[in-house]
Amino acid sequence: MKYAIISDIHSNLEALESVLQEIDQIGVDRIICLGDIVGYGANPNECVEIIRERKIESIIGNHDTVACGKKEPFDFNFVAKEAALWTRNTLTAKNREFLHNLPETREIDGFLIVHGAISDPDLYIFSVYDAIGEFKLMKKWNICFFGHTHVRTYYVLIGGDVQCRFEYEFKIKPEAKYLINPGSVGQPRDRDPRSSFLIYDSKGAAVRFIRLEYDIESAKQKIIRAGLDRRLAERLSLGI
Ligand code: ZN
Repeated sequence: MKYAIISDIHSNLEALESVLQEIDQIGVDRIICLGDIVGYGANPNECVEIIRERKIESIIGNHDTVACGKKEPFDFNFVAKEAALWTRNTLTAKNREFLHNLPETREIDGFLIVHGAISDPDLYIFSVYDAIGEFKLMKKWNICFFGHTHVRTYYVLIGGDVQCRFEYEFKIKPEAKYLINPGSVGQPRDRDPRSSFLIYDSKGAAVRFIRLEYDIESAKQKIIRAGLDRRLAERLSLGI
């Protein structure tokens, strides 16, 4: 089975369309989204509708939770809060309901997907130390895909040792456990502005990260025209 794993689209329609076009060209069996379909960008409705219409299997992210009204943005910074409330007002009732009904986690063919961390969907896995705590919760699973940090990386637990790694391609070893982050489709933060996602081939036990250029200028112009904070546009070019 071949899976495309995408995450953190953040209402960036240009990025989502480019990534899906590339995934279609590669040809996969299932497309899975780790949450944060909306928030920050200018096209929340369009992005939700693509996820819904293409039946992309998704979980809810922290921005989706606020945008659909399930939670208030108490722990968001000012710019994120403003964008989240703009998104809430811009979303149609049908799209808000779609987000509201997304599950927090999902088990798919024996692997787990979460937005932030297994222990807490709002928590960031940013270090080996964070990963050690999460691996303790993976008794049932060998692989967990997570998002939220917008940084492409993976952690491997092998022989009692946890490592943080960045290779673009690797093989899944049966004796190891993995926490894998595909990076962000719509707002990468590893100083590489290209969209990030991955292909997981369960038969070949292989993971391949992919970076893809998209029309950043259009996405930026839309953010500015929508009256959202200019910094949300500027960061797309910088990959921060
Ligand atoms: Zn996010």
